[in-house]
Amino acid sequence: MHAQARPQSQLTTGAARIGVSLLTSLPQKLSAISLRQPPWAFKNLRGVFLLFLILLHSTGANAGGLTRPIEHELALELKPHLGTLSGEDTLTLYPGKWNQPSFVFLLHGEFEVEPVEIPHQGDWKIIATKTDEGLASINRIEIFKPKNTDWPDFVQFKFRYRGPFLDLQKNEEKKTAVSTHTVFLDESSLFYPVIETRKASPLVIFEMQTITPTGWQVVSEGKRISHIDNGGRISTLWKCDDPMQEIHLISDRYHEYQDRWEDIDLLVFLRHEDPALAKRYLDTAKMYIPFYQRLIGSYPFVKFAVVENSEQTGYGMPSFTLLGSRVIRFPFILHSSYPHEILHNWWGNGAYVKAKEGNWSEGLTTYLADHLLPELDGKGDSYRFQQLMKYTNYVSPENDFPLSQFRSRTDMATQAIGYGKLVMVLHMLRNRVGEKAFLDGLHDFYFDNLFKRAGYKELREAMATHSPENLSQFFRQWILSAGAPQLKLGTVSTIKILRFK
Ligand SMILES: [Zn+2]
Repeated sequence: MHAQARPQSQLTTGAARIGVSLLTSLPQKLSAISLRQPPWAFKNLRGVFLLFLILLHSTGANAGGLTRPIEHELALELKPHLGTLSGEDTLTLYPGKWNQPSFVFLLHGEFEVEPVEIPHQGDWKIIATKTDEGLASINRIEIFKPKNTDWPDFVQFKFRYRGPFLDLQKNEEKKTAVSTHTVFLDESSLFYPVIETRKASPLVIFEMQTITPTGWQVVSEGKRISHIDNGGRISTLWKCDDPMQEIHLISDRYHEYQDRWEDIDLLVFLRHEDPALAKRYLDTAKMYIPFYQRLIGSYPFVKFAVVENSEQTGYGMPSFTLLGSRVIRFPFILHSSYPHEILHNWWGNGAYVKAKEGNWSEGLTTYLADHLLPELDGKGDSYRFQQLMKYTNYVSPENDFPLSQFRSRTDMATQAIGYGKLVMVLHMLRNRVGEKAFLDGLHDFYFDNLFKRAGYKELREAMATHSPENLSQFFRQWILSAGAPQLKLGTVSTIKILRFK
């Protein structure tokens, strides 16, 4: 996930000017940093849960071995005003080389979970326990295959559960209010059975049928297959055949606006009617999606949606962006954070990050959005100068770390490294291998790693294919080591230069 709401002082790009330069100088050349807003409470809460999950995971099974993404067939009835849901998930797993006798699934602790249905022969065993850790209470359901048998090619489990969902945007003072906020559920809400693993979660594909009260729309990854308002409740089906890292469910009382660019559905979901604002987002998407397609390769999804959030976020999820109510109305966002979020569909939400090897997606997205757009206007050098200044001002030997250890921005120093330093490193790389090799390398890196987790190793390999050198030394120096060049002026003297007319 990615948050890019930048301070106003950074955002000076005028819509018309960029519009003209994009249309007239489509990227023969490359040449983007984005300050995340300080994480607000929700992010912290999410952090606590993720940490808890990781701790739990550390005792769990190894994720390796599944031959295909996990398939979820979800049917959820949501009561957003009550904060509850009743759900059913038919989950299909392809165990492949799974070397454990069991799978462990986690569901939010406040759900009442019915015994799991297993439509397979043999003596399957289920151990369901609840870890009660206050907010982080979790249902843990371990399913053992029959003794002395191998895992079948695929297994199917049916879960049924109901109760209060864990809405990461709901805070205490809103508990009694009549849903004035946008419902936000993701993997860490455990609103669907999440497999417990020591490594990153296995990828998932899904179908999600939701029933919501009238007016309440649901947005998720993938394509909206059906959307029926039958007076009293809305039935919506989202289907996603591309392997995702997690499933999101965003719900609010939205006004919806639609458009299309080639075969991509463009959608805008606003909390209040505002056709002019929606049109601006739809029109601007029709400019940046083709721009990045030409720069890198095909846009990876069948839709792109702009979704308004009651909380002030700037997130990019696969095939949609979640922008806060105030953020979405800042005029400068259209040509700053917005292209950055659109570009995350290629970097981070298309080709995924292998987190333990360093998060390259923010720096790369910044380089090709926040930096490239000014560069096309002849202002790349001043943008890069700002990044050097930030690195000098905020990073010291005490808080410096290599890019391979960057996970996400938490303060100005981590921002100056994970975003700013990588911008500079990519700029050096581009100058070293040349424009064409750099673009060809990015193209290969994207297509080779679409819907897979990739690290700097894959980036280096893709670049090296188009470069005369293998770049090992370059990547070792700039990615695996902390620090930046230190320039010192020695004795300085001035000389008079005569000019002849
Ligand atoms: Zn970002």
